[in-house]
Amino acid sequence: MSETPARPSAKTLYIDGAWQRAASGAEFDVTNPADGTLIGRAANAGAAETRRAIGAASRAFADWSTTTAYERAGYLDRAYRLMTDNAFELAELMTAEQGKPLRAARNEVRYAADFLSWYAEEAKRVYGATIPSSRADQRFLVHHQPVGVVAAITPWNYPMSMITRKVAPALAAGCTVVVKPAEQTPLCAAAIVEIFEEIDLPPGVLNLVTTDAPEPVADALLNCALVRKLTFTGSTEVGKLLSRKASETVKRVSLELGGHAPFIVFGDADPARAAKGLSLVKFLNTGQACICPNRIFVQRALVDDFLDVLVARVRDMKAGNGLDDGVTVGPLIDEAALAKMQRQVTDAVAKGAKVLTGGERLLDGGLDQGQFFAPTVLTNVGPEMDIYYEETFGPIAPVIPFDDEDEVIAMANDTSYGLAAYLYTNELSRAIRVSEALQFGIIGVNDINPTAAAAPFGGIKQSGQGREGGAQGIDEYLDTKLIGIAL
Ligand code: NAP
Repeated sequence: MSETPARPSAKTLYIDGAWQRAASGAEFDVTNPADGTLIGRAANAGAAETRRAIGAASRAFADWSTTTAYERAGYLDRAYRLMTDNAFELAELMTAEQGKPLRAARNEVRYAADFLSWYAEEAKRVYGATIPSSRADQRFLVHHQPVGVVAAITPWNYPMSMITRKVAPALAAGCTVVVKPAEQTPLCAAAIVEIFEEIDLPPGVLNLVTTDAPEPVADALLNCALVRKLTFTGSTEVGKLLSRKASETVKRVSLELGGHAPFIVFGDADPARAAKGLSLVKFLNTGQACICPNRIFVQRALVDDFLDVLVARVRDMKAGNGLDDGVTVGPLIDEAALAKMQRQVTDAVAKGAKVLTGGERLLDGGLDQGQFFAPTVLTNVGPEMDIYYEETFGPIAPVIPFDDEDEVIAMANDTSYGLAAYLYTNELSRAIRVSEALQFGIIGVNDINPTAAAAPFGGIKQSGQGREGGAQGIDEYLDTKLIGIAL
């Protein structure tokens, strides 16, 4: 086994430009999901520390919001350079803490850094407007101003990019931020904050509160009227809960929630290319991505050819510690995730599904020390099974045959989620027609990676509201002000 980098100190609570311990001195363990080893400890903060962080962010807002866009861009640009200079160490830390293979971790660091670079530029493009008035003696000006203090609550599955995707546009807009990361990945969050510390971001502009008990921290953020915006990435269930709480003080809210992506392979597509694409995007991050395909619809005539290639590719995957050479699939994040995979497979098999490969926990070769589930392909999957409607968030690919276009559009849209969808076809008019009919915020046409810092990311239906990335991403952190002037 590879050695994992250790960060023994609890340097994770960052308020008003200073690293500190929780008032109680409490800490919690951070472990490597590949082998359960301790890789660090994090400060276990509560409501009191959170209120101090909000106070610091609120005081810092007065100055930060009046810096020029060019100054804020300068900070983001320096953070981008430092992050890319340290990409290798950051990726190693991410693999140790979150489990994804090192190559995937490097890709995430690059993606995370891209938001810093992109919003360094977008800071300078917050344009206002003038509106013609019906009165000769009146002028209308439209300004955009930062919303204020932002609470950013983030998940563990993309532990750096989910933070920069919020922090970069917020800082670019002139907001100050309190970040509460997932309890599994406080060290990655601290590493991002350290970058901003090193570039001398003014105290209080960015604060970090780590905890293994999210409710008191989230409540302190959501109950406080000084916090003007909640930006959340995580499960739909928690997103709804936080959104309800945020409504008490009428905060701006953006939500990036769960997904249940369909992946449609039409009869005119190349089944081998589609199967290759599916094997890459389905097992990305061990299936723990909100945009991972969860329902694979293949036109009936292509099913056998598609499955031949898919099963061969899946059998070639190597599970293990992401720091080890040749590993392509990392562990699941925790026991609960493992139990969910086992439950979904058992339920599907009991109702008639067939396991073509995988289907069980991996225990050999030291894998019993972590939470490894074999990359799995299921066929004969139907709507009576849990996996058909429930977000999987793991390495199981259920394949479902279909007969015609209208039928598959209805099946694909038959979900409360609406984040990402994929289709493979070589017919241009079908690509456009089906893309327009699918009720999802992101569509990949013969493409498994329809994401970039420059592109708006987000869902419809119960997958969320608002967009991150792109020109749209900064709007989430800006209020619109109308100024009417009588001459
Ligand atoms: P989660 O359980 O909803 O947790 C997300 C964040 O919310 C964590 O910081 C968590 O803290 C906090 N949290 C959990 N329960 C809370 C409560 N009762 N009160 C206040 N805060 C609470 O989600 P996750 O398991 O980390 O992430 C997986 C989910 O995120 C999946 O559904 C996935 O699809 C979604 N996701 C969506 C996107 C997107 O862009 N749409 C991107 C990535 C992930 P603790 O860690 O301390 O529990």
